[in-house]
Amino acid sequence: MQRTLNVDTSQKQGEEVVIKGWVNARRNMGKIAFVDLRDRSGLVQVVLVPAELDEASNEILKDIRPEFVLEIKGIVNERGEKQKNADLPTGQVEVLAKEVKILSESKTPPFEIDNEERQAKEDLRLQYRYLDLRHNRMRTNLVMRSKMMHFVRNYLNEQGFIEIHTPILSKSTPEGARDYLVPSRVHQGKFFALPQAPQQYKQLLMVAGMERYFQIAPCFRDEDARADRSPGEFYQIDIEMSFVEQNDILDLVEGMFTSMIKEHWPDRTITETPWPRLKYDDVMKEYKTDKPDLRKNKEDSKELAFAWILDWPLFVPQTEEDFFHGAGSKWGPAHNMFTRPKEEDIPLLEKDPGKVKSYQHDLVLNGVEVGGGALRISDSKLQEKVFELIGFDDEKKKQFAHLLEAFQYGVPPHGGIAPGFDRLLSILQGETSIREVIAFPLTSDARDPLMDAPAEVDKAQLDELGLEIKKKK
Ligand code: ASP
Repeated sequence: MQRTLNVDTSQKQGEEVVIKGWVNARRNMGKIAFVDLRDRSGLVQVVLVPAELDEASNEILKDIRPEFVLEIKGIVNERGEKQKNADLPTGQVEVLAKEVKILSESKTPPFEIDNEERQAKEDLRLQYRYLDLRHNRMRTNLVMRSKMMHFVRNYLNEQGFIEIHTPILSKSTPEGARDYLVPSRVHQGKFFALPQAPQQYKQLLMVAGMERYFQIAPCFRDEDARADRSPGEFYQIDIEMSFVEQNDILDLVEGMFTSMIKEHWPDRTITETPWPRLKYDDVMKEYKTDKPDLRKNKEDSKELAFAWILDWPLFVPQTEEDFFHGAGSKWGPAHNMFTRPKEEDIPLLEKDPGKVKSYQHDLVLNGVEVGGGALRISDSKLQEKVFELIGFDDEKKKQFAHLLEAFQYGVPPHGGIAPGFDRLLSILQGETSIREVIAFPLTSDARDPLMDAPAEVDKAQLDELGLEIKKKK
């Protein structure tokens, strides 16, 4: 017999069904037992009455415990008036079991799996992530993640964008974080770097004439964790466009996210539309931060206050702590080194770099930065000037020779943005940490307790790569 999903039992009163899933809970009431069976669609109540079951099923009845996987054949009945549960989609019905098969047994899980709260410590949850993901809330987060991915893909496709995979084994673009390195076996002593963002590739794709590129792009940054950042890897909706002005990029993103929220988060309210477009200097003066929280009611978990922050300085003072590839200058880029300065400020580059404003745009939501981007420099002379100002020597500049060379072959004016996929989703889902919307995230100290990564490798592997591990201090 074909399997029925739990949620569909509510439409099958009086019919015989086969359901399959996990025991969410078991309650004994004298001789009768109740099992809440969980599958991907949700829960349904199963009634186990010895007199209704065949002999084999009666034998195993006492063994059934939470998280066993069962196959149950039974009849869908309307629940008694008092047993009806309006909070559950299948709350009007129950399945009276006739045959029960145990498909798989389960040890007692290290934490309780219910549909509401998760009390276990994060380390334990991540070690047993496959159990943690059985929580309804975690499943919902992943379902919404999938919906968001589909929405973004469809929307951008319809606007003439093409999705292009850029390399993972790469030479990273210096976006200001530490790189993850991958040793090369074939070219011993050399390393790939995992991309911090596909920045240079997407600009090269503009030179290539793609005009409208996007990618739900994995980005790798070896950073220390914060609630709104996951160490290791995260995803960005990476976008680049040719022949556009700054407003075209802002309008595109604003239109996309507004329709997405309307479709998939219809109970959310957006504080102000069109989203306010604010100047960096004004925002700093008024809110003393470049990430102002513009919600009218900060207690309202459904309120979304977006804002664009524009007219950024091109450079910010570079501090000792700044990890910026050791560039020894007073100035570092406010966004990245490819950001185009405002034309009228170009003469100030020599005299007063701190005064130069740029075409950077940051997207802020409820006081959190959820994306940044810019119009780019497309003139190799200007790009070289910026490299100099942030302290690149000839050696460093050489690392970008390919980009400067590409700019010699007809480069369209271009720009883009990269909203953080996980970060935006976590806010939309009302989660405090982006790890709640990632299936298998690293812990805050960059470990995977489930796979036990990172891990040592054996000597033969190191030898092949020509590597030797220094004694730990
Ligand atoms: N690559 C930039 C980043 O990761 C985004 C952009 O400028 O488009 O922040």
